[in-house]
Amino acid sequence: MTHQGHDSETAPPRLALDAIGMRFGAENAVSDLDLAVTEGEVVCLLGPSGCGKSTTLRIAAGVERQTKGRVLIDGVVASDASLHRPPEQRSVGLLFQDFALFPHLTVAENIGFGLRQTPKSQRRGIVEDYLAKVGLDGFGAKYPHQISGGEQQRVALARALAPRPRVMLMDEPFSGLDNRLRDDVRDETLAILHAEGTAVLLVTHEPDEAMRMADRIALMRDGRIVQVGVPYTLYNAPVDRAAAAFFSDLNILHSVVKDRTTETPFGRFAAPELPDQTAVEVIARPQHVAIVEDTGTMPSVGASDGNPARGRVVRARFIGAQSLIEVEMDHDRSMIRASVPNAWVPGAGTPVWLSLPRDRCLVFPCLHQDAHARPWAAQ
Ligand code: ATP
Repeated sequence: MTHQGHDSETAPPRLALDAIGMRFGAENAVSDLDLAVTEGEVVCLLGPSGCGKSTTLRIAAGVERQTKGRVLIDGVVASDASLHRPPEQRSVGLLFQDFALFPHLTVAENIGFGLRQTPKSQRRGIVEDYLAKVGLDGFGAKYPHQISGGEQQRVALARALAPRPRVMLMDEPFSGLDNRLRDDVRDETLAILHAEGTAVLLVTHEPDEAMRMADRIALMRDGRIVQVGVPYTLYNAPVDRAAAAFFSDLNILHSVVKDRTTETPFGRFAAPELPDQTAVEVIARPQHVAIVEDTGTMPSVGASDGNPARGRVVRARFIGAQSLIEVEMDHDRSMIRASVPNAWVPGAGTPVWLSLPRDRCLVFPCLHQDAHARPWAAQ
């Protein structure tokens, strides 16, 4: 079965969460959350443990009823203050970490389970079709305990997809799989979901998984969405330091604003929105730090690279796709971490020049105002 036609451009989103709030006793688990997922789109809810991701997904599914706001599927209210449709009446597919196949049913019977509304004569063909889609041709007569964990996960995916839900809701669906298997199953799953044009809302606490799967990422904190955008934007233009820190380790330099810029040993950085004397943090991801060995002359760097500053390697490690190099800076003994995409592993004590490309660094107002005490200090 192939995906038949696409929603017109004016169609409402497949899933819309409208001003959702959820209270458990005195605690707001979700507050004022708006999010829409369109046909064929994969949106990842990303955030630390306890930020409200699963609760949001459960509300979308109808397993949980929100205390405020509305859930709409294809523009039709599935839940609001006066109405609440259960999951089986929402055309949603659910795939959770503990995807629990029925142990006493065969693979084919498991997939057919969601097709009870479909005439019996058609069920068999649909089951065969989805078995083939997930690469399990010929597995229909086996029982769950006779197949591997990755295969079981694919059966669960086929079971969720077979009724052709308008929206697929997935909560950490790959976390039970080991690393190698996880990459394969994840890529295959994504390909199938794209081919079906299903709208997908996926919960994960792993930034790598979100970057890999999402068309858009909704970053959550304390029950709220703090930023929504394509992975590139979340990585390169995070709204604040905590959002930046979610995606990688950070180097942080403390400074203050003067004349819409801020001065550091690595040169001046633009701080156009901030008034004079605002304490700021200049943030550089280790993979954006440029590093060269000091062979006696200061390296020439482009105008956008700021000033090089000198330091000495404290430790360097090769970790496969890159090397991590920790450098103690000459100017204040602070540490800067660089990540380079090659196998350069300089010995401890090697003198180096570091520079921070201005267009890759971010300047945010300081979270802790004691930064004035130690300008330039990297944490
Ligand atoms: P994790 O990644 O650890 O699963 P999460 O981001 O999915 O976390 P939720 O499970 O949505 O977070 O929980 C959000 C908050 O709501 C937490 O503080 C949690 O303790 C609370 N919570 C969730 N479900 C309930 C419940 N049924 N009763 C009371 N509090 C709950």
